[in-house]
Amino acid sequence: MKITVENGKMHVPNNPTIPYITGDGIGRDITPVALKVFDAAVEKAYNGQRKVEWLKILAGEEALEKKGEPLPKETIEAIKEYVVSIKGPLTTPVGGGYRSLNVTMRQVLDLFVCFRPVRYFTGVPSPMKHPELLDVIIFRENTEDVYAGIEWPYDSKESIEIKNFLKDKLNVNIKENSGIGIKPISISGSKRIGKAAIDYALKYGRKSVTIMHKGNIMKYTEGLFKNVIYQLAEEEYKDTVITEKELTEKYNGKVLDGKIVLKDRIADAMFQQLLLRPSEYDIIVAPNLNGDYISDACAAQVGGLGMAPGGNINFNTHIALFEATHGSAPKHAGKNEINPGSMILSGAEMFEYMEWDEVKKIIITAIEKTIQEKYVTYDLARQIDGARKVSTSDFGDRIIKNMEDI
Ligand code: NAD
Repeated sequence: MKITVENGKMHVPNNPTIPYITGDGIGRDITPVALKVFDAAVEKAYNGQRKVEWLKILAGEEALEKKGEPLPKETIEAIKEYVVSIKGPLTTPVGGGYRSLNVTMRQVLDLFVCFRPVRYFTGVPSPMKHPELLDVIIFRENTEDVYAGIEWPYDSKESIEIKNFLKDKLNVNIKENSGIGIKPISISGSKRIGKAAIDYALKYGRKSVTIMHKGNIMKYTEGLFKNVIYQLAEEEYKDTVITEKELTEKYNGKVLDGKIVLKDRIADAMFQQLLLRPSEYDIIVAPNLNGDYISDACAAQVGGLGMAPGGNINFNTHIALFEATHGSAPKHAGKNEINPGSMILSGAEMFEYMEWDEVKKIIITAIEKTIQEKYVTYDLARQIDGARKVSTSDFGDRIIKNMEDI
C-alpha cells in the first residue's frame, strides 16, 4: 500500500510500498545487503504485523541500459507517488555524459533539506580524542546558493554581458577574465528550512538549533538566511524557542524543559567550534555550500563517510529520498568488500521518518554490537587492532544475527 499525505500529515500503512534505487558501482553490493537488514529489523520490531514491500525503480547506469536514459520520468513519478524512498550512490560522468542525477532529483522534487545526522558509533576508529561528544544533525539547504547552477565561463556571451551591465549600470568593475556565478538565497527558501530545523528539534527533544553562515561578509545572502530564521523564531515560536542572548539576559543560562536555544555562528568559527566544543552543538542549519563542507567535516570526526547516513527531504510535501552519502566508488564495485553502513544507517533514519522508531533502534543497536565485536569491512578493519575483516554480505548477516537478543 502507498504511504499517503493528507492535510499535511503523512500516513504510513503497515505494509508500505517503498521504492528503491540500487545505484551504480558499489550500489549493487550494498543495496541488497541493506534491504535484507531492513527486513530483518522490521520483522524483529513488529513480528510480522508490519512489512515493507520493496519496489525497484531505475536510475543511473541500469536505467540507461534498460530504458535508454539515466533518469526516466517514471522514476521521478514513483518517488513522488510513494512519498518515501531510498537510493544507493549514482555515478556522475566526468566531462560530458549527463549532469548529476543526485542534483537533478533534489531540484526536480524540490527536496529542500539535505538531512545529515552525524554521531559516533563505539568502536569506529576516529582521529578525535572524544568522538562521542559529537552528535549533530545538519540541515543543509539543497536548492539555492552557488549550487543553483547559475554560472557562465569567463569568455561566454552571458558573462561578458553581465560584466558590462555591472560596469555600465552599477559602476562595478570585474576583471574581464572572470567567470561568473550567481548566489541566490531567498527569504522563502531560508524560512522553510529554518522551520524544518526548528520543528525537528522540538519534535525530537533536541537542545539547540545553530545557524551556520558567513553573513558578516555576504550580508544580503547568508546574512539574510540568518536574519530570516531569527525572525521566524520571533514570530512563530515565541513560546518554545529562546535566543542565546535571551538565555543569558532573561533565563540566567538555564533552558527550561520543552524549549530550545537558537544561536548562530560564523561559518569558519563553526568548524573550530565543532572540533573544540562539539557537545555544545545539536541541530545545525546552513546554506547549501556551508552545509556541504560541514557535513563531510563532521563525518570525518566520527570516522568517515562509510558510516554517514543522509536523506533529501521536502518537509512540506513530505517527499523524502534517503541515500548513502558516499559515491559509487567504482574501483570497489562488485567485490563484496565495501562497507554498507552508510546505506543501512540511512534506512534507519528513513524508518524514524516514517515513525517506525523501533526499527531504527534495532538497527543501531545491532550495528553497534557488530562493530564492537570487531567484525567489520576492510575500511574499518585496517584501522582496528585485532579486527576480523569480513565481506559486505557477511557484515550484513552479522548485524541481522546481532538483532536476535535485542
Ligand atoms: P566515493 O565516495 O565513491 O569513493 C571515494 C573513496 O571513498 C573510495 O575509493 C573508497 O576508498 C571510499 N569509500 C566510499 N564509500 C565507501 C564505503 N561505503 N565503504 C568503504 N569505503 C568507501 O567518491 P568518488 O570516487 O569521488 O565518486 C565516485 C562517483 O560517485 C562519482 O561519479 C561521483 O559523482 C559519485 N558520487 C555520488 C554520490 C551520491 O550518489 N550521493 C555522492 C558522491 C559521489
